[in-house]
Amino acid sequence: MNKEVRVRFAPSPTGGLHLGGVRTALFNYLFAKKHNGTFILRVEDTDQTRFVEGAEEYIVDCLAWCGIAPDESPQKPGAFGPYRQSERKPSYRQYAEQLVNSGYAYYAFDTAEELTAKRAQEPNFLYGQKSRMQMRNSLTLTQSEVSELLAQNAPHVIRIKMPANEQVTFTDMIRGEVTFDTNLVDDKVLLKADGMPTYHLAVVVDDRAMQISHIFRGEEWLPSAPIHLLLWEYLGWGDEMPNWAHLPLILKPDGNGKLSKRDGDRLGFPVYAMNWTDPKTGDLTKGFKELGFMPEAFVNLLALLGWNDGTDKEIFTLNELIDSFSVERISKAGAKFDFEKAKWFNHEWIKNSPVEQLIANVQTELSSAGITVTDGEKLATAIALVKDRCTLLSDFVSQLGYFFVAPQDYDISAIAPKWTAEKTNFFETFAQTLNIDASAAELETEFKALAESKSLKAGEVMLPLRMMLVGGKFGPGVFDIVKFLGKEETQKRIAYCLSKLNA
Ligand code: GLU
Repeated sequence: MNKEVRVRFAPSPTGGLHLGGVRTALFNYLFAKKHNGTFILRVEDTDQTRFVEGAEEYIVDCLAWCGIAPDESPQKPGAFGPYRQSERKPSYRQYAEQLVNSGYAYYAFDTAEELTAKRAQEPNFLYGQKSRMQMRNSLTLTQSEVSELLAQNAPHVIRIKMPANEQVTFTDMIRGEVTFDTNLVDDKVLLKADGMPTYHLAVVVDDRAMQISHIFRGEEWLPSAPIHLLLWEYLGWGDEMPNWAHLPLILKPDGNGKLSKRDGDRLGFPVYAMNWTDPKTGDLTKGFKELGFMPEAFVNLLALLGWNDGTDKEIFTLNELIDSFSVERISKAGAKFDFEKAKWFNHEWIKNSPVEQLIANVQTELSSAGITVTDGEKLATAIALVKDRCTLLSDFVSQLGYFFVAPQDYDISAIAPKWTAEKTNFFETFAQTLNIDASAAELETEFKALAESKSLKAGEVMLPLRMMLVGGKFGPGVFDIVKFLGKEETQKRIAYCLSKLNA
């Protein structure tokens, strides 16, 4: 790589951050870190109509949660600012006018009403080669009419003049050579009536100003590539052009089209990285974070959507991803999103994470469920006992809450029908004689021996013991639970259930 690697993630602050957006950020980040480059966050906020309050902070928080830290951003400006497009507003007009003066763009004075009328007449109307000479623009008006309209501040936009019969070709880092026919591309607006650039102009001006070397962005931007390529040429920057890579789409689980937020709502899984509340409607859309995903797992599963290292390895830390990442191994084909597989990643991460890494998250989950645990050591022991059983961080509440708070609901009906006085007697004796200093294995042996002495099968009393301590048919080894609860609490729970069973 001969030029310094500078890449950017360039989201528009229009709402929640889709997992595809995070994957784009991640691939940019991995590429930058792999090549000792710079990862930039640039906020593309020139579309005032779509701007949403709070969306920028939310994007910053999502990246921070994922551990994808920008080297330069609006919050951490480097030498290539501003990092919010709207703050660069004064500089765009000069480039748009430069394009008009060199014949690559033109002023268009058509009003919104005129355009609506035109579209009503011609449903497939495109402002471009076939139609531009019938419209009100600097190609059809005289020089003096144009000057007069401009002097009067008549509302106008600047449009690119797409050339006829040209093939625009570039080499995409993932797709290889891609060619576009300019006859199929319309005359996109570059500068809007409010003086703001459109995405097409802003992206080119900013990528150059920020000396971006490589662009990783979603495949949905591929149709815009010919416009951007021509703008780089027309502005005289052709030999500074960055390299492009259009990342494969993330598809719905059935592979039928791009995964949208609505698919998540329909199929019951999150699509956003973190909870997002629409400031206008107050609607909350759930995110992976709040559902109980570890950021390490989220990043890991995103990396594997459209990339692999060429082996069967699936579990990667962020640093391992940086080491293994290569553009050659990004696939062209869309990647189907599979929520069960996403949960599998999280389960692997929870299972394999040291307790110290989980403890803060588990504390948060417990306290939002109203369970306060002050003894860090006890919590660590409980986590170690149940972490293999948790797929989501939120599962820790049900999987270990009973270690700290006696169960509220007992599934008594599961044991009541076969309850006998002998069983009551057995449990009373067990509770009284409980030798808590014995190991879990010794306790089990003693428990079984006691059952035998009372002519009961161990299997008949094992499940009831679990029910009494845990409230249900789940949890780790029941004698580990006894050890954890201690003598007094074990006795209390047994006595409580016996009173219910004998009521
Ligand atoms: N602002 C665009 C978006 O929201 C950025 C596209 C690009 O990376 O060029 O995705």
